[in-house]
Amino acid sequence: MTDLVNPATGLAIETVPASSLYDTDAAIERAHAAFPRWRAMAPADRARLLRRFAATVDAHIEELAELEVRNSGHTIGNARWEAGNVRDVLDYYAGAPERLMGRQIPVAGGLDVTFHEPLGVVGIIVPWNFPMPIAGWGFAPALAAGNTVVLKPAEVTPLTALRLAELATRAGLPEGVFTVVPGRGSLVGERFVTHPAVRKVCFTGSTDVGKRIMRGCADQVKRVTLELGGKSANIVFADADLERAAAGAPAAVFDNAGQDCCARSRILVQRQAYDRFLELLEPAVRAFRVEDPALETAQMGPLITAAQRDTVKSYVDDAARVAFTGTAPEGPGFWYAPTVLLADSPADRHWREEIFGPVVSVLPFDDEADAIRLANDTEYGLSGSIWTRDAGRAIRVARGVETGNLSVNSNSSVRYSTPFGGMKQSGLGRELGPDALLPFTDVKNVFLATD
Ligand code: NAD
Repeated sequence: MTDLVNPATGLAIETVPASSLYDTDAAIERAHAAFPRWRAMAPADRARLLRRFAATVDAHIEELAELEVRNSGHTIGNARWEAGNVRDVLDYYAGAPERLMGRQIPVAGGLDVTFHEPLGVVGIIVPWNFPMPIAGWGFAPALAAGNTVVLKPAEVTPLTALRLAELATRAGLPEGVFTVVPGRGSLVGERFVTHPAVRKVCFTGSTDVGKRIMRGCADQVKRVTLELGGKSANIVFADADLERAAAGAPAAVFDNAGQDCCARSRILVQRQAYDRFLELLEPAVRAFRVEDPALETAQMGPLITAAQRDTVKSYVDDAARVAFTGTAPEGPGFWYAPTVLLADSPADRHWREEIFGPVVSVLPFDDEADAIRLANDTEYGLSGSIWTRDAGRAIRVARGVETGNLSVNSNSSVRYSTPFGGMKQSGLGRELGPDALLPFTDVKNVFLATD
């Protein structure tokens, strides 16, 4: 059993069963048994069921959002967006079964066609920071492509995933097509890697565990998609609209209490604008509303656990130069105030490591080449922003920064209709967007002789 805690109060909320190896194998075997029928279902019927699933989620947005506020400490505004994202991703990929087209390739002596065949059972492993969207980015395209799914939520945040599985059943998805298996990563997650009936693992989480999963999958040449950590740069040039860049910077890193793989946790500011930018940033950070996440006005809630707060604190040690901080509630719950650190050099630990909390580091740079060099001086490459009024520079820098998702004069990273994923050690493969079904399939080539 796993005891769940409300991060905003530190109080127990409920206990959920932790699946055993036996439970995990049984869920995988049910998914395996459900595969032939799901795969053979007429594309239009599979599409209709996914649309019904989306509509069922839509009818439960508020309930799912409230569950996420309680279990994960997300602000109610964010949690509504997250539940809505599951609905939208299901709707988007409900259009896919009828459009999963192969090719007809001209050859001599016959007809050559390709098919995108589903893989079988897909195992999806989800972290605690965005339990709903990350689950949906995996299961919606996997199901649309004709696979069945077993999904393991993070130990501390299983409630919305368990509810989504109930909603799938209510929408009419056949038994075994989508099963949520709560439990430990080292047990349930590992079994997805070692069980031969699981043909692909779709993992989002830390880079260390991702590497371990990739090694494990190699034994069976199992397909794998990895969405891992980040240390993204927010690059502000002196010619930018500094007011807008500074006003947007707090949410770009403190949203979800900084527990966001896309958090712009390194701010690079061109030297001549450095002082002015910090002057503008300070009131924006102080005004950032950190409060009970159930309040409509909340912009940030607590951290997920006391342990996560301890980790975050360890980066704000005596050596760290604190420029200024925001505020956070006192008392129970895992609160931490937004904190802005001034980096002395790119060697600073807080500049280099993913903190996964509401701490941002600021460093000046000299010119375009220096900005690109500093932004790329990391093993990660997930996301980032560029602020400038010079369109040519925006494109040059966007092409120069080694990261999967960049925004110019904006901090938004995620749209379900565009690809998302990391370069370097931030990941392998892409989710979302028009091509996300393909990694959930294998290409089969068929030649039919006509002579
Ligand atoms: P984590 O790697 O500890 O856990 C992620 C999931 O993997 C959990 O469900 C966990 O139970 C499971 N797991 C743990 N050990 C396992 C094992 N040996 N085998 C199989 N599964 C195992 O990560 P976390 O602390 O839950 O999440 C935070 C990390 O996730 C951060 O590094 C963050 O950057 C990353 N993240 C990345 C993205 C992205 O899209 N790139 C999105 C969200 C989070």
